[in-house]
Amino acid sequence: MGRLDGKVAIVTGAAQGLGEALVKRIAEEGAKVVGVDLNEEKLKETMAKYGEHTLGLKLDVTDENGWQEIVDTTIETFGKVDVLVNNAAMMSNKGVLDLKPEEYMKVMQVNSLGTLLGIQKSIPKMQENGGGSIVNIASIGALKSGAADGGDAAYSASKGSVRALSKHVAHNFAKDNIRCNSVYPGGIMTDMLKKVFDESPDLWESNKAASPLPNHIADPVDIANGVVYLASDDAKAVTGTELIIDNGNMT
Ligand code: NAD
Repeated sequence: MGRLDGKVAIVTGAAQGLGEALVKRIAEEGAKVVGVDLNEEKLKETMAKYGEHTLGLKLDVTDENGWQEIVDTTIETFGKVDVLVNNAAMMSNKGVLDLKPEEYMKVMQVNSLGTLLGIQKSIPKMQENGGGSIVNIASIGALKSGAADGGDAAYSASKGSVRALSKHVAHNFAKDNIRCNSVYPGGIMTDMLKKVFDESPDLWESNKAASPLPNHIADPVDIANGVVYLASDDAKAVTGTELIIDNGNMT
């Protein structure tokens, strides 16, 4: 028996990296999964691996009408929305003095507004359904700087807003049995991190020094396992929590 048997989940940024691991683990635990991503071609390839109970749909998470269509299609196809995982994100790889206003706003739109829109469109369906679980992927870049955020000011700020939004939603929708938790990965070996290390090779050593467990970069499945827990009824008493999965970087 799976920990998510009978549930229906939406996962953003599902085409690759952590998003792919989330689709895989959530489907393995028995849920039907709608994976969405901007990169339609890669999304199709990825979702095709995970069976008939999954569906891949193109979405730019900053598109409010697009979000409504995703939620409506999820209801038409699978009948309800139990779980929302806001995982899609981008980096600017720029510090405070180099950031242009439009670069800052782009990162805030994808990482912060994209998360808000998913929540706004899913909550009414969760309310109708008697509850739900929202998991927002933040980053330890929301909690500390240095090796944790790749020197990216916009990224840190955007993930700080995801942290605050998660608390706000947890507090205000607990009455509807809707839980909202956030997850704080340290380094995960995905394309996003490879790009950071390519651009700033020194960060590899500082990240290694800061993360005391021997495997200082997590595998995507390490994070996905934490998300499965928060999405499932095993965490029915857990809301507003902040789950750090970082090989000890924050210790
Ligand atoms: P990734 O860059 O490999 O994948 C991100 C996915 O999001 C891509 O498939 C991309 O197409 C999609 N995406 C980007 N913008 C989008 C948009 N506007 N609309 C829809 N989809 C969009 O990244 P990843 O490493 O798998 O990161 C996943 C999550 O984990 C992100 O929230 C990231 O901030 C977080 N995180 C990653 C690390 C790390 O070291 N990789 C560390 C901490 C937190």
